[in-house]
Amino acid sequence: MSMQVTAETPRPRDASAALEARAVQVIPGGVNSPVRAFKAVGGGPVFIRRGHGCTVEDVDGNTYIDYLGSWGPLILGHAHPKVVAAVQEAAADGTSFGAPTEREVLLAEAIRRALPSVEQVRLVSSGTEACMSALRVARAFTGRSKILKFDGCYHGHADSLLVQAGSGAITFGVPDSAGVSAGVAAETISVPYNSLEAVRAAFAAHGSEIAAVIVEPIAANMGVIPPAAGFLDGLREITRRHGALLIFDEVVSGFRYGPNGAQGAFGITPDLTTLGKVVGGGLPLAAYGGRREIMEQLAPLGPAYQAGTLSGNPIATAAGLATLGVLAKSNPYAQLDRLAAQLADGLTEAARSAGVALQVSRVGSMLTPFFADAMPTDFDSAMKADRTKYAAFFRAMLDRGVYLAPSQFEAGFVSTAHTDAEIDRTIALAREALTT
Ligand code: PMP
Repeated sequence: MSMQVTAETPRPRDASAALEARAVQVIPGGVNSPVRAFKAVGGGPVFIRRGHGCTVEDVDGNTYIDYLGSWGPLILGHAHPKVVAAVQEAAADGTSFGAPTEREVLLAEAIRRALPSVEQVRLVSSGTEACMSALRVARAFTGRSKILKFDGCYHGHADSLLVQAGSGAITFGVPDSAGVSAGVAAETISVPYNSLEAVRAAFAAHGSEIAAVIVEPIAANMGVIPPAAGFLDGLREITRRHGALLIFDEVVSGFRYGPNGAQGAFGITPDLTTLGKVVGGGLPLAAYGGRREIMEQLAPLGPAYQAGTLSGNPIATAAGLATLGVLAKSNPYAQLDRLAAQLADGLTEAARSAGVALQVSRVGSMLTPFFADAMPTDFDSAMKADRTKYAAFFRAMLDRGVYLAPSQFEAGFVSTAHTDAEIDRTIALAREALTT
């Protein structure tokens, strides 16, 4: 088979530009989430019209192989027939009740089967809400107020978590957001990822005040960075010794890094877990849960309050259940790992032959190409990557019909809709982009 490696000439993105011009008048920066504005990579945002499988089509009619996957949820690709059917069927029966439904129970049971550490779970509508609520319940349970997090990890935009935060907060140079009061920020301690020494020092200074350590067990918001050997075990041991809770933020890794999340893969039992993205099948749904005695702090059983008009929404639970159902039946994780490895190896080799220093950091189906001499292991080393080169690569790939994450400090995702053909084509286009 002769593979076409030269991209079709893209149509000018005039319709996207016209929509952007209108959007900036009525939406701050023209977007409803900062990184979408493409400020980190230059050029205006691409407005998407539709997605199908592993591709998206923009409003000008250009098609892209998509590695954004809506920032992680779309492990089955866009518009998977089972998910679409589940959503349509649910919507026809009513979009929201504000009363309990069977699918909420089914989804909670499915989460508990996959993550035995989650004895009880609350469904919410975003990863931000899940992490914010997990901290509240941790504080309620321990009676302590401080939180320990890691530089460059992102746990949503709740005030106390916008301290040395990753994702768009790094991209835009605001790891410590304006609008967070000094009092709230003072309750958050942030230390380098993968440094147990720093964690020990923080506990030595504040041990009796720390309610919880919250961590992305596989960091994905300073680019993908795996946990160093022993790091997560060390966190488990230190938190247990000091009576603090360990919260695994598996918003990205849950149902993506294997069927039992990072906790299953690394054999660690956290006290609390947050989920989002894949568990909601591309609809606004997230979750937090953990040990029963901790979760029973929540109203109506206990004194910690958390509620939501749309929590456990019937359409979102239908999409989540359909997605988890397909994953449980097909167990695609080995296949995803193989495809992502092929992509990472292909990009590495393309860069090597072009004489470009590129490190592709990959964990399962999540990956980030860092333009750097050495593989990053934490926030400081990730910041050494050449963002100008990433931006140029991003634009060169976009113009060739490949949609990567529009910032160096994010993850790319391979879905079950990607095949060898798209991976090979992406590598061939990257070879071209890196040499020209
Ligand atoms: N935790 C992690 C690890 C995330 O990556 C994100 C979002 N990318 C969040 C929490 C927040 O989720 P949401 O955007 O749904 O609020």
